[in-house]
Amino acid sequence: MSYRFTEEERELYESMQIPFVIYGYEDGNIRALLISDGYCSLKKQDRDVLRQKQNMNLLNEVHPKDAKKLLPLALSFAKHLSPFDILYRTKMPDDEKYHVMHAVAKWQTMPDKSEVAFVTFNDMTRGMFEIDRLTDGYELFQKDRFYNDPTTGLPNLNYLLEYADDFAENQRLNGGNPALLYFDVIGMQSYNSQYGFSRGDELLCLIAGVLKDVFPGEFVSRGYDDHFFVISNLQTDEQLSERIDRANRHIKKGAYGNTTGIQAGVCILEKGMRVSDAIGHARHALREVDNDLNITHKIFTNETDEAYWQQRFIIENFENALQNERIKVYYQCIQRLKTGNACALEALARWVDPDRGIISPEEFIPVLEKYHLLHKLDLYMVDQICKEVKPRQDIGLPLIPVSVNFSAQDFDYVDIVGAINDILEKYGVSRDKLIIEITERDVALATNRFREQMQRIRDNGYKIWIDDFGSGYSSLNVFSQYHFDLIKFDQAFLLNLDVNNSANRLIFKAMVDMAKELQILTLAEGMESPDHLDFLREIGCDMAQGFYFYKPESLESIRFKLANGNPMMPCDL
Ligand code: C2E
Ligand code: MG
Ligand code: MG
Repeated sequence: MSYRFTEEERELYESMQIPFVIYGYEDGNIRALLISDGYCSLKKQDRDVLRQKQNMNLLNEVHPKDAKKLLPLALSFAKHLSPFDILYRTKMPDDEKYHVMHAVAKWQTMPDKSEVAFVTFNDMTRGMFEIDRLTDGYELFQKDRFYNDPTTGLPNLNYLLEYADDFAENQRLNGGNPALLYFDVIGMQSYNSQYGFSRGDELLCLIAGVLKDVFPGEFVSRGYDDHFFVISNLQTDEQLSERIDRANRHIKKGAYGNTTGIQAGVCILEKGMRVSDAIGHARHALREVDNDLNITHKIFTNETDEAYWQQRFIIENFENALQNERIKVYYQCIQRLKTGNACALEALARWVDPDRGIISPEEFIPVLEKYHLLHKLDLYMVDQICKEVKPRQDIGLPLIPVSVNFSAQDFDYVDIVGAINDILEKYGVSRDKLIIEITERDVALATNRFREQMQRIRDNGYKIWIDDFGSGYSSLNVFSQYHFDLIKFDQAFLLNLDVNNSANRLIFKAMVDMAKELQILTLAEGMESPDHLDFLREIGCDMAQGFYFYKPESLESIRFKLANGNPMMPCDL
């Protein structure tokens, strides 16, 4: 006789969530005495149905191959000859598929000394599903992280790269003009260092919210650091400026600390252009904005791209160009107007690249200045000029002084005056053979340190000429503050001599008169015509420099001309 469970025991065992069946002998046959709720839910069937099945043929649903192995093991266990701990395949009624089942059976002696077998089951296949489900869940969580920026809650770069192309295509299909806006926060680094990183994060969150308000329904995401990307239907330049201005007003108002806000580089997403490519273009355009606070954004064009690559070329090849003397000194003759004789030369840099040809200083000087490399060029120029003194003499050129362009920035990095002295000494060139040109802009913006340096230049026996006078910074009081040997009038004067009822003629004359009063020499840049020459003579300007007589030339070119019978320029010493 098998054990008879009390009602209480039955209720307790049946309510258990562990899948198990208690078997016992009844009339010499093994029968299911009790089935737990856990087993019902594992099999997804009613207890009664299960009980019937169990009692009909235990191995009915077992895979035929496994049934063969299982039967002797079960019998052996029933006879207490071996333990029962096996894996087998059994069909599950809900999906009609074989699942791998792990069954462990144990004999248990009950209070009435009868024995029952507790068999616990574990559906390994469903277990795997469960693990997969959990893993999927984890992946979803990961995905969430994968696509979301935890700081601002905006979609991140991964999300942008995955979905922004479709978003843009959709805008295009709806007749829009999608553009990628690459936003950068102006001065984020200093904001962080001034107010701390958590305030910095707050600012980023504020910007995220403002961008969502200003670009409603559009694709707003945070790229990385302080860069935000928006895919927006670009209507007009003005509309975009208005939106960015509005965003900046909100940002300034809502920020904890002082901030200027955001600026954008823009790349229009023409059909076929991928967002991943547009990011690079928009970044170049953003570089063009260059923290100029008057500009809200710049739209990428092929010229922007070219400018960017040219800039990269300059930075990456500059040192090499110096070492290989690819930067050449071009000399432009400066004439005394009374005599027509040359009295000085201005040294102008030309980068002669074997592949790109001659690169003008207008292209590379601003880049070198931006990257704080200009002092290297300027000292190199002094070195080259001194090195060429002997070759100049060798071809019979009288040794007239050479003026070199220096920028105020040069003086920030090295002891320029000391370095110039050393170079001149190295080549045995006297100091009266070198003139230092400094632009009016640099003088007007001079710091105390730079003022001291200008004084040092003069104290060391060099002349200072003020370059590009009248180019926009004209502040006549520079003359009462410093002493200069000469002022070079910007070529814009001669170029625009006859505009505004010839106002420049009057102004020019008045300035020359004033300089004379102050005993400062005058030089006009950009003399291009006989009319210019006549005018300059008439107003009593001392010197001139211009294409009318001489263009800047390399020493080789001058040598070549002399060798080919061109007359030597007359010089004043
Ligand atoms: P800058 O010092 O005012 O030099 C005069 C510029 O005017 C030169 O341009 C010269 O070629 C040009 N020029 C001379 N006569 C005429 C003329 O009749 N008509 C016209 N349209 N232009 C004339 P360049 O050589 O292209 O130099 C441009 C500027 O680059 C220079 O202006 C100077 O500010 C800077 N620069 C050139 N070489 C150096 C250098 O070695 N060091 C530094 N720091 N700056 C340099
Ligand atoms: Mg100059
Ligand atoms: Mg000039």
